[in-house]
Amino acid sequence: MGDTIFHKIARAEIPADVVYDDGVVMAFKDIHPKAPTHLLFIAKDASDFVPSIADMSDATAHVPGMLIAAAQRFAKEQGIDGYKLTFHVGKAGEQEVFYLHLHFLSQKTL
Ligand code: AMP
Repeated sequence: MGDTIFHKIARAEIPADVVYDDGVVMAFKDIHPKAPTHLLFIAKDASDFVPSIADMSDATAHVPGMLIAAAQRFAKEQGIDGYKLTFHVGKAGEQEVFYLHLHFLSQKTL
């Protein structure tokens, strides 16, 4: 499985503006934000790697839930009571980075 830019961010090999890290899931600011707060939540461990929702298997079906739970925890911690959560699925779904990530968009500035 090829390395993506998010593999390198998960391994801390390249910098990212990390705003959340619970050891299992991390979130960092999108470099091209589409809202005042635009974050990307990813699983850190290689065993939780899934390229896309389209590639999910029984063994990795828990991963989207992990990302959503982390986003919910982060929002509660930050007092953000409204936000959008999005997965882009496949090239036709405008997915560019094939390392499963959850977009978190909020009108509230961090
Ligand atoms: P997607 O279209 O769902 O694959 O979204 C990939 C997102 O990753 C885009 O919104 C990009 O702006 C963002 N992105 C790409 N490279 C980086 C990076 N090095 N750090 C932060 N965000 C990135």
